[in-house]
Amino acid sequence: MPEFVMELDEDQRGVRDWIHGFAADVMRPAAAEWDEREEFPWPVVQEAAKIGLYSLDFYAQQFFDPTGLGIPMTLEELFWGDAGLGLAIAGTGLAAIGVLTSGTDEQIGTWLPQMYGDAGDVKVAAFCSSEPDAGSDVSAMRTRAVYDEARDEWVINGTKTWATNGGIANVHVVVAVVDPSLGSRGHASFIVPPGTAGLSQGQKFKKHGIRASHTAEVVLDQVRVPGSCLLGGKEKLDERLARARERARGAGGTANSSNAAMATFEASRPAVGAQAVGIARAAYETALDYARTRVQFGRPIIDNQGVAFQLADMRTRIDAARLLVWRASWMATTGRPFTSAEGSMSKLFAGETAKTVTAQAMQILGGNGFTREYPVERMHRDAAIYTVFEGTSEIQRLVIARAVSGVPIR
Ligand SMILES: Cc1cc2nc3c(=O)[nH]c(=O)nc-3n(C[C@H](O)[C@H](O)[C@H](O)COP(=O)(O)OP(=O)(O)OC[C@H]3O[C@@H](n4cnc5c(N)ncnc54)[C@H](O)[C@@H]3O)c2cc1C
Repeated sequence: MPEFVMELDEDQRGVRDWIHGFAADVMRPAAAEWDEREEFPWPVVQEAAKIGLYSLDFYAQQFFDPTGLGIPMTLEELFWGDAGLGLAIAGTGLAAIGVLTSGTDEQIGTWLPQMYGDAGDVKVAAFCSSEPDAGSDVSAMRTRAVYDEARDEWVINGTKTWATNGGIANVHVVVAVVDPSLGSRGHASFIVPPGTAGLSQGQKFKKHGIRASHTAEVVLDQVRVPGSCLLGGKEKLDERLARARERARGAGGTANSSNAAMATFEASRPAVGAQAVGIARAAYETALDYARTRVQFGRPIIDNQGVAFQLADMRTRIDAARLLVWRASWMATTGRPFTSAEGSMSKLFAGETAKTVTAQAMQILGGNGFTREYPVERMHRDAAIYTVFEGTSEIQRLVIARAVSGVPIR
């Protein structure tokens, strides 16, 4: 089992520099335009696919990197390029992880390639869990999946919201309630294959940031999927539900969140943290350059401690955030238990860092920081989502507090 390392090896540095080149040469010049257009940037994703940067092979390689650093390194670099475009490229990953963690080998082999498509015919995927009344409180989910035994089909009804790539995806992964008496232990995930009748896009959201990423409601009206689309298969689901019922009886009530789901979140949160680190680093570098060249009172503004100390704090926070992200990614890859919710820690700290650092960068750029002539204004808007999605900062604190105290804090 690899030990925790704090630097990339030569191969990893080569990959990082290659992604950096794409981020600098393709993403950055296109970022402002797609932010203004608020449309999914298919040409940019196609460019990424052409060079193999948007492909199942590439992400599988990074995902299975034994050091655990492949994914955080990739995401930091992409989001350094631009967060909206970065999420357009990386958003499929959320659905892919859902299938990788709960699908059978056959499901993984069938659906993952269809999520990415190929360089000549690029596809994206969506992971649909959140609902209008079930955001932080996943147990309030209402989308229902009912098994039609005669036809070996699942019938899904409900409305999902905030789905990244929702409605434009080739493959949708939908979480639904299969046993309402079990809270979030009574949920299961389903593949909704391309072109399935009854799935449609609802409202597309106009957003504050990451505007090149597509976010929409997904409406499921009598959606029928074959039994083979239940992730993990029926036998495994029946066993899991039987265990959950047993547990609920033993505990004298409804169980709330499943340990397996929590473990999956802990393992996926550092990836979101890595995105936040990329945004923060981009804003910090812009501010550092600006502070060196902007002259006031006859000297560069960086000569003032008031400015230089802010830059010192920004860099310190970014490095600390990256270390937390790398540690949690390494723990996930090497199967170490997240006894103190280290995955949530990394997402909490990195998300808050992106918000703080981009605000400091705007301040250092003065009036220019407030305009769309400079990228920090966009970075600040983009950073704001990192204390909200994939579990808000308050929910991360709740998870960490419960893990370290053993107390069911509310
Ligand atoms: C751009 C974008 C993309 C997204 N992409 C996806 C996606 O691809 N798939 C998907 O399924 N979801 C996605 N989401 C949904 C996202 O994960 C949710 O927005 C998030 O989980 C918060 O849920 P909510 O918006 O309903 O807020 P709420 O849960 O209503 O929270 C509102 C406020 O109350 C606080 N709060 C709630 N409960 C507690 C508590 N117990 N203690 C303390 N504070 C609390 C929250 O921290 C927050 O500040 C996306 C959201 C956005 C905005």
